[in-house]
Amino acid sequence: TIAQTEGPFFTPSTPQRTSLIEDGMTGTKLTVTGYVLTTNCQPVAQALIDFWHCDDAGNYDNVGYKLRGHQFTNDQGQYTLETIRPGLYPGRTRHIHVKVQAANQPILTTQLYFSNEPGNATDGIFHPALTMDEQDTPDGKAATFNFVLNI
Ligand code: FE
Repeated sequence: TIAQTEGPFFTPSTPQRTSLIEDGMTGTKLTVTGYVLTTNCQPVAQALIDFWHCDDAGNYDNVGYKLRGHQFTNDQGQYTLETIRPGLYPGRTRHIHVKVQAANQPILTTQLYFSNEPGNATDGIFHPALTMDEQDTPDGKAATFNFVLNI
């Protein structure tokens, strides 16, 4: 998985949680699932994944930890993120920031994107290899992305 810029809105020491949804949060529910894998396609258990993104209105929480959280892959190398679809802010297409790290290995910092998003065509950072296809679910959207670490 290719690396991308961290951007200006990373906050360290996020809460450990798989759901970023909180009471009163607006937006479309989004569930992202997948694996963390080695380049030999071996699952990476207990890999650290730290997600952060803006809210439905395009704003980051740079004071607290809203829409920020880290988790670890399970014994099969799988993760599940429950959140809302990020909104849009000027200059960028829709995206989710993420850091992925196997134990005692370098951190991969990258971003995830959405197919069929008009802003992809004009975003200078967008990369098609980092794009997720979304499916409709009874209560929102679902998408899959497998991270491949260079280990
Ligand atoms: Fe961003």
